[in-house]
Amino acid sequence: MSDKKDKKTCDVVGCEEEAFKTVARKKAEKIFNLKGNASKVHLCKKHYKEFKKKTKKERELERVGWV
Ligand SMILES: [Zn+2]
Repeated sequence: MSDKKDKKTCDVVGCEEEAFKTVARKKAEKIFNLKGNASKVHLCKKHYKEFKKKTKKERELERVGWV
């Protein structure tokens, strides 16, 4: 595995887009198949949008018992 400090790319398996946002793996792994095993994952614009959309509903449920 290489640790290039180049541009970060999306951590979703099969996606090579440039990273747009970093999110907690715990949340992202429920939605996507992720590369690596870092606690934070990078998402491209497209996947971040999807992430936000899918976590929105969850967030409402989690509001009661936020961990
Ligand atoms: Zn992506």
